[in-house]
Amino acid sequence: MIKQPHILLVYTGGTIGMIKDADTGVLKAFDFTSLLVKIPELRLLDCSIETISFEHPIDSSNMSPKYWIEIATIIRDNYSKFDGFVVLHGSDTMSYTASALSFMFENLAKPVILTGSQLPIGDLRTDAKENLITSIEMASLQKDGQPIIREVGLYFEYKLYRGNRTTKLSAEHFEAFESLNYPNLAESGVHLKVNSEYLLKPKSNSKLIVRTAMDSDIGVLKLFPGISRAICEAVLTSKLIKGLIIETYGSGNATTESWFIDLLKKAITNGLHIVNVTQCVRGSVNMGQYETSSQLKTIGIISGKDITTEAAIAKMMYLLGENLDAQQFQYYFEKSLRGEMS
Ligand code: ASP
Repeated sequence: MIKQPHILLVYTGGTIGMIKDADTGVLKAFDFTSLLVKIPELRLLDCSIETISFEHPIDSSNMSPKYWIEIATIIRDNYSKFDGFVVLHGSDTMSYTASALSFMFENLAKPVILTGSQLPIGDLRTDAKENLITSIEMASLQKDGQPIIREVGLYFEYKLYRGNRTTKLSAEHFEAFESLNYPNLAESGVHLKVNSEYLLKPKSNSKLIVRTAMDSDIGVLKLFPGISRAICEAVLTSKLIKGLIIETYGSGNATTESWFIDLLKKAITNGLHIVNVTQCVRGSVNMGQYETSSQLKTIGIISGKDITTEAAIAKMMYLLGENLDAQQFQYYFEKSLRGEMS
């Protein structure tokens, strides 16, 4: 007899778990322990489901590495008991959490799918039910008794994306996320269509390692025409920052003013890891393509290639937690570790 997949739903907070009080209209948390009673459709799924919830669910604007560790620990502690995991999460910072979890789990061989919704689960026109039901179906997909998806994904509005490739682009459309530099992993139509060629294929026998030393002493500096020397100096000479992501123009270009280049050079000499990520939502950093990026390459700025800022932040926290020297840091940052860059 074929065993039904066993799925763990982890509720962290967000609109998906809210229900509107019929009298007052105020949104309040939905009791996830009674999920199967409130959404009887879930019983029709060909899997068994258990739920676990944060003791105090949060709006994802309050997300932080402390909660990433809580999610990762829940999954680690239940890893052998379940075939797949669905993490219910507010959409606002879901791409950051998906990215962070992807780095925290090394040798992940089971699906971890994040989902949420734009409208509360109790709303008439809610997108929560479809997102929840299809995420569970995606997490249940198996071939020869093994999970088909073996990475951290993000499911929203009929599409499954690689989590660390996503960005939230819309605050009002049901189609809130996009993966602009990587194809979708799967789509939900009349049938579920998995694009197998784009899935990560981890070595099946390696043991799961969960890395929890996320160091958040980092900064993000978005360049804009007219950015002042004083502001750049304040950031680049700060003793509080160990890693800095610079959001540059186009294919990784920045001003060639000598004060800017000198500040960067000095910061690198003083041990700051600086990564170049483009402000463009599509395409890649390619230092050396233009004169305005050649010097950045020469002085030792790390290329973020086509990584999203969300994934770059998570990757930087993860690599800083590993206490690498400058050369190793650059090597690992420029290498795709979980399919986060091309
Ligand atoms: N502010 C909410 C959150 O991110 C929005 C949502 O649930 O989608 O938690």
